[in-house]
Amino acid sequence: MQFEVFTLLPEIFPPYLDNSIMKRARERGLIDVRVHNIRDYTHDKHHTTDDTPYGGGGGMVMKPEPVFEAIETVLGLNAPFDLAQDNSDQTPPKPDSIIPIILLTPQGRVFNQSIAQELSQHKRIVLLCGRYEGVDERIREHLVTDEISIGDYVLTGGELPSLILIDAISRLLPDVLGDPTGAEDDSHAMGLLEYPHYTRPPEFRGWKIPEVLLTGAHAKIDKWRREQALLRTLKKRPDMLEKAELTKADLKFLKNLESEERSEK
Ligand code: SAM
Repeated sequence: MQFEVFTLLPEIFPPYLDNSIMKRARERGLIDVRVHNIRDYTHDKHHTTDDTPYGGGGGMVMKPEPVFEAIETVLGLNAPFDLAQDNSDQTPPKPDSIIPIILLTPQGRVFNQSIAQELSQHKRIVLLCGRYEGVDERIREHLVTDEISIGDYVLTGGELPSLILIDAISRLLPDVLGDPTGAEDDSHAMGLLEYPHYTRPPEFRGWKIPEVLLTGAHAKIDKWRREQALLRTLKKRPDMLEKAELTKADLKFLKNLESEERSEK
């Protein structure tokens, strides 16, 4: 999987990508993250990438020319629309959506595990990081093919959101995680929160781990884990249960829980 990141702050990326699983995935050629400095695609003396907003108001806006030129050059797209000319009678085609051109923006669809799954099917993805007040609207209208938010809050730039996407997508790719089934039980992968984990020692400050985990009986352990996942999803994120794929045994377990709770009240 190849990630093409476009940013005004490329130096933000290496410290994260040169560590741990991301580093190993890159070294093994499982992912390739290319970080492009939008400023390299400016042609004026001051390498201007932003300007004041039309209509007034505070803040700066990222200019369209360097962003279009950067992405079109890297993707090898023929410039579909020359903004310097009067092309008002032409509708420029949007770039091929086989390579999603994703704008990170608090106005996008909110990122989650199923979007990570969806994006992990692509071979190449473009991530465009905004700064200041964001990008000129013509970038969103005529270049970008998808808009993603990492939550309902506003950050100063799209660099952290891009790293979040790269991380969440990469760990779904074959061989990126040491344990090939590592991502399968993760929270949100199957529509539930994951069961609790314990490691040695079996007793710490008088707190023992659940007996079942010491039995070595895999079927019993699987059943306990499934029930714990259902239990904590019910307690912490009941909204998720509405969409989760539940078996008859799951439904029975949840029904028993509900009647237990009712009798306790
Ligand atoms: N004025 C914009 C608005 O109100 O929609 C917010 C601009 S924000 C200060 C600057 C940049 O940070 C955005 O262009 C975007 O790339 C990134 N950003 C901020 N919050 C984000 C979020 N929740 N998800 C994804 N990107 C975000």
